[in-house]
Amino acid sequence: MTDRSNTNPSQFGRLTCGSLRIDQAGESVALRGWVHRRRDLGGLIFIDLRDRYGLTQVVFNPQIAPDAHELASGVRPEYVLKVGGTVRPRPEGTINPKLATGEIEVEGLALEVLNESKTPPFELNQEGEVDEGVRLRHRYLDLRRSRLQRNIVLRHDVVAAMRDFLIARDFLEIETPNLIKSTPEGARDFLVPSSGFPGNFYALPQSPQQLKQLLMVAGFDRYFQVARCFRDEPQRADRQPEFTQLDIEMSFVEPDEVMGLSENLFLELSRRFSTKRIRETPFPRLTYAQAMDRFGNDRPDLRFGIELRDVSNALTGTSFNAFAQTLSGGGQVKAIVVPGAADYSRREIDGLTELAKQSGAKGMATLAVRADEVRGPIAKFLSPSELDALTTGIGANTGDLVLAVADTPQVVAKSLSALRLEIGNRLGLIDPNVFAYCWVYEFPLLEWNEEEGRWEATHNPFSGYLEEDAPLLDTDPGAVRAKQYDLVLNGYELGGGSVRNHRRADQERLFALMGYPANELAGRFGALLDALDYGAPPHGGVAMGIDRVVMLLADEENIREVIAFPKNQRGLDLMFGAPDLVVPSQLDELGLRLDPDKQTTIR
Ligand code: ASP
Repeated sequence: MTDRSNTNPSQFGRLTCGSLRIDQAGESVALRGWVHRRRDLGGLIFIDLRDRYGLTQVVFNPQIAPDAHELASGVRPEYVLKVGGTVRPRPEGTINPKLATGEIEVEGLALEVLNESKTPPFELNQEGEVDEGVRLRHRYLDLRRSRLQRNIVLRHDVVAAMRDFLIARDFLEIETPNLIKSTPEGARDFLVPSSGFPGNFYALPQSPQQLKQLLMVAGFDRYFQVARCFRDEPQRADRQPEFTQLDIEMSFVEPDEVMGLSENLFLELSRRFSTKRIRETPFPRLTYAQAMDRFGNDRPDLRFGIELRDVSNALTGTSFNAFAQTLSGGGQVKAIVVPGAADYSRREIDGLTELAKQSGAKGMATLAVRADEVRGPIAKFLSPSELDALTTGIGANTGDLVLAVADTPQVVAKSLSALRLEIGNRLGLIDPNVFAYCWVYEFPLLEWNEEEGRWEATHNPFSGYLEEDAPLLDTDPGAVRAKQYDLVLNGYELGGGSVRNHRRADQERLFALMGYPANELAGRFGALLDALDYGAPPHGGVAMGIDRVVMLLADEENIREVIAFPKNQRGLDLMFGAPDLVVPSQLDELGLRLDPDKQTTIR
């Protein structure tokens, strides 16, 4: 049990299981808490009484308080007790310096069992691994354990710090509704059927995007909200169907101002809530093009080097068929250098090749740089100057291994980025005590949706674009750069935002490119488009994923560890058993009938 009583003193002098100190020796006290541990030693019974503030040792002596001692002999872990007694110094040699209350104990004189407890399904006074399903089913017990206690307190402190930071800078916290109309952010909406108007549905917000823009039109020039967002997406390890964002919007700003504000906030949070060293300030800024070029990833982990190197030019005239074909078909050849890996075994190389293939690559070429030669299956097909370009040309020294992929730019980026991360981990290049922040900005505004044959927003459909790129909207929409920026920490996207289109014509033009039919436009975005007609100020904002931020500050690997009541990996609430079937009368009221073929029962 971590003792938090030093970091979390009760301001009002409340007596808790973490508050007693040596200068209170002699005082009569009453403590309430849970039995953390009970030990019977030579007639004395020791109980560690626990609450969220700490632990206090209580001693029952049969000679001094026979009734209390008798009762104490029957209590078990997690019983809730009220103990009356006297504070006294612990005997010489039994002081526990790790505990804030470790210099004292309470001589138990009176004992009341406020409630009993069944034996919990897992031990709460130990930090061992427990099956996550069991933890989630009994989350209220899991939450009593020190790890989650620490994380939930941290989360509270982080959110409080976010509020303080923004309020001190004139931001207003404004709530926006959760029953709204569908706002597209790229995921599927959760729908809520209306009983008043059967056949009609509310949607839960994927984010308060349109509402915060409307607040700008309303003149609340600095808004924030700790906003719950809902996205009905396939679940991944670090996703939840509902999650919390720090949502921000500001009027009269360009990207630089929003990025600067966010950066100062994250510097403050990191310094206050983590001991990790911030790798570089100001946070490095990479354009999307640079991030993809150097790391093959728009959320690069900058805790270590190993950058992608483009060797396409050096290989233009190559007689090695596989490379020549890729290059003439508009593809690329890029490579990374793995330091000291020239002696990797066949098996190790096969493993890396497999990883590249999982990212869509047809294969991966290797060159081992030895003192006397460059060795690898493709070495004999390359000229000396090509070999040189692929080794010394990209910084490979004797003893290093070069991994090269030839494919479309997308596949090259994806596979080399995966290889880079694997190598970083494998070679222990990632310093766990570092926070490497960076901004990635100037994302493409639009990407082509092959299936639907239309352009769609890469981030959100309200992002504005660089003025200088406006002519490209007609000629090459895919090349238009958005005023979009993402904040990245250690390879995780913490959040992002953009400066928006504040003129109706600009926004409509983009909607047209995105292929929304005019009638659908009015239905889905009518309110926002109309509002842009009434003196909408230039504005922009950002939203940061609070779950992920707290996860990284807590040094956890999963956001479920920093959410009081998370869903499991399949999006299920194991404690309440949701989602669940409802009784037919509930469906009747809503005018809904289920398709029996589509119905699933969750076990
Ligand atoms: N609404 C966006 C999101 O949820 C963030 C923003 O652009 O402010 O990702």
